[in-house]
Amino acid sequence: MMSREQLAVQQARKAFLTGRSKPLDYRVKQLKNLSRFIKERAADITNALRKDLYKSANSTQLFEILGLEGEINLAVSKLAEWAAPRPVNKNLLTISDDVFLQPEPLGVVLIIGAWNYPIAVTLQPLVGAIAAGNAVVVKPSEVSSHTASVMELMSLYLDSEMYQVVTGGVPETQELLKQRFDHIFYTGNSTVGKLVMEAASHHLTPVTLELGGKSPCYIDKNCDIRIACRRITWGKYLNCGQTCIAPDYILCESSIQDRVIDEIQKCIKEFYTIDPKTFEDYGRIINRRHFKRIMALLEGSTVAVGGDCDESECYIAPTVLRDVKPASKVMQEEIFGPILPIVTVNGLKEAIEFINDREKPLALYVFSSSKKVIKQMISETSSGALLANDCMVHFTLSDLPFGGVGYSGTGRYHGKYSFDQVSHLRSCLIKKLNMEAVNQMRYPPHTTEKLRW
Ligand code: NAD
Repeated sequence: MMSREQLAVQQARKAFLTGRSKPLDYRVKQLKNLSRFIKERAADITNALRKDLYKSANSTQLFEILGLEGEINLAVSKLAEWAAPRPVNKNLLTISDDVFLQPEPLGVVLIIGAWNYPIAVTLQPLVGAIAAGNAVVVKPSEVSSHTASVMELMSLYLDSEMYQVVTGGVPETQELLKQRFDHIFYTGNSTVGKLVMEAASHHLTPVTLELGGKSPCYIDKNCDIRIACRRITWGKYLNCGQTCIAPDYILCESSIQDRVIDEIQKCIKEFYTIDPKTFEDYGRIINRRHFKRIMALLEGSTVAVGGDCDESECYIAPTVLRDVKPASKVMQEEIFGPILPIVTVNGLKEAIEFINDREKPLALYVFSSSKKVIKQMISETSSGALLANDCMVHFTLSDLPFGGVGYSGTGRYHGKYSFDQVSHLRSCLIKKLNMEAVNQMRYPPHTTEKLRW
């Protein structure tokens, strides 16, 4: 008997082969339906995210919904332009031909979402896939189970044959990964990313891997430390540190470490009060497994701020660690929680060496008032994105492609990049059947006279 996962893929492919996702007005209608789902189900989404991650309604609106709506509106308004043939430069041989790239849908796309911003990271890729004319199988993360249940309701709004939502955990995802897709768009950790890539290789399916890792944050002593710490505190403790592009750790000279700790402590109080546990807008760790994993990372390090926790509520206070040793536990894996280690270095050169000794990060942050320092960081390191004097805001810009490099991922999305990521840009050359004389030089015999011409 056919499994639920097999059936979903089969139905999506059947719907795709009807060709009805090709006309642009169909795609626009589906995008508008997706927008209607978000609006009409706003209360369900908000409640689910409160249950899954203790997100406040305003945080959900700001960090899950606004960006998604912006992406949908952009796709609706730009679709005709994105889907149009793209002319390219010609050479002498093709001067009178029509030469262009024609975007075409790939076919059936599998989107596997993660749990930390479950709406944004699952539905933003869906926007690109619908816009590009693909059929889609959406697999929300089972870890944010309440939000996954709400996403199932999308079938009431979208063409439910073309866009399938399959819920479930690891076995269901593995069953899906055995099926043949035309693209797999995965968001999550690098270990599973490798499994996805391996499964995709059996069908030579291209993949987008939106992964994580340790995003470093260098604070130059030559900068406004107060402002730097405000922006870092926001980036680190938003969603309780469970953000793929959160600053994972700070690198700075030991001469400014105390000042940095002091300023971050002040910001924590200002943003989350002296008791973040009872504060409306401070999140929780997704589950006990992650709670235990994060608390274990504290082993062997010195707590400078915070450190308290409550397992029954999956609460971990905003925490800063000082004088952290590079060999310590907390520096061996992505933290993905509200713990901010400070590793001291002797200036920019050593910070760059520290970063380059590790995997290429998803984001790299540098705080400095010196253009030279910023330029050097850009030219001597590599990362998915680099921001100077801020964190995380690049995610909001549709024109800055979002994605990693090396261990932090492969492929990119947002705005037109999402459309292109799940399209095939087909090379097309259309020649007329007249003007045959122009072609004589390429036909045999290849005489010296022809070469001179
Ligand atoms: P997760 O546990 O929800 O896993 C992601 C998806 O993979 C889920 O849908 C799950 O069902 C599936 N999965 C898990 N184990 C599997 C297995 N063994 N075989 C097949 N499928 C499996 O999410 P996570 O991995 O804990 O997410 C956190 C990670 O994701 C962090 O590393 C974070 O940095 C990264 N992340 C990256 C981005 C980005 O845009 N680059 C965004 C969000 C999160």
